[in-house]
Amino acid sequence: MKVNPAYKTKESLLELYNKPLLELVFEAATVHRQFHNPREVQMSSLLSIKTGGCPEDCGYCPQAARYHTDVEAHKLMTVESVVEQAKNAKANGSSRLCMGAAWREVRDNRDFDTVIEMVQAVNDLNMEVCCTLGMMNEDQAKRLKNAGLFAYNHNLDSSREFYGDVISTREYEDRLNTIENARKAGITVCSGGIIGMGEAIEDRIGLLMSYMEMENPPESIPINALVAVEGTPLEDQKPIEQWEMIRMVATTRIAFPEAVVRLSAGRTKMSMEGQALCFMAGAGSIFAGDKLLTTPNPEFNEDKEMFAVLGLIPKEAFADGEKPVSQPDPVIEAKKEQAAQRAKELAEAKTASEGFTPRKVTTFS
Ligand code: SF4
Repeated sequence: MKVNPAYKTKESLLELYNKPLLELVFEAATVHRQFHNPREVQMSSLLSIKTGGCPEDCGYCPQAARYHTDVEAHKLMTVESVVEQAKNAKANGSSRLCMGAAWREVRDNRDFDTVIEMVQAVNDLNMEVCCTLGMMNEDQAKRLKNAGLFAYNHNLDSSREFYGDVISTREYEDRLNTIENARKAGITVCSGGIIGMGEAIEDRIGLLMSYMEMENPPESIPINALVAVEGTPLEDQKPIEQWEMIRMVATTRIAFPEAVVRLSAGRTKMSMEGQALCFMAGAGSIFAGDKLLTTPNPEFNEDKEMFAVLGLIPKEAFADGEKPVSQPDPVIEAKKEQAAQRAKELAEAKTASEGFTPRKVTTFS
């Protein structure tokens, strides 16, 4: 049951969201137990593979080049350093690595070839690989799928109505197209939102309605609380109460019983008790590691302690779907072939020139 037939309208979802909190949590916990092992929580790591300098204007994001924040721009990481970080995340219990690049969209260039190699290398480590690289077309999605990508993250952030208040450099429709391209390529979809950006409760419900209206709603729905960063247009937003996070997690859980609801950014502002209620209400994943792209997150050790106290078990990779097989990338293979051909021609030209004696030129003065 991808969507809960009892909550397919705005009105019913709104009524659900506004239920007395403990009733809501109880209902969510009941649904969660029917579809998931309530003790299992996936630890995922989010790695910024290309930081800052983004041309977009997302009002919450310190990586947008136009805002004056403390984020330093860095070019794309190397495959080797990504593998090192992935191994470290895996050793600390993460079974999924999400690689984020601060791009408006994927471009068919050498950087994208490198990302393809990263996907292949991390999939080889038996970790679920997720990428968040901005907008992409269907061919690019196919290359990622072929490389072994498990999931593509592309958040709708909020309702269609509120979206324009936060982002002006692209449309809601662009987001939906990219999600559709991931789907067409056979990649699972990770898409969710941020609460606490100044939206109304109706906008939170509007976000869920966007997924409800999809033919194939996301397998993974991250719920983030805004981390207001100095220098961004949303720097003065008051932090939300953790009860709101619990409500949003619970409502999402009930509306999309099969999806993995991810308790994502904003955990540093939550108590262990607050997070425990989110797990009770159906959160099946957290982001682990001291950084969430560029914003702070609890340390691995704090989360290990929380898992021990709450009796949670880190979820294994590929519990929700088969491990993709990484295939050689046709574009990279063609480039390698061209380079080998060029090297061969150069070598042949060199050999031919070895027996060549330049003609003696007599000059007259
Ligand atoms: S959220 Fe992504 S697209 Fe938006 S400014 Fe930040 S890096 Fe760029």
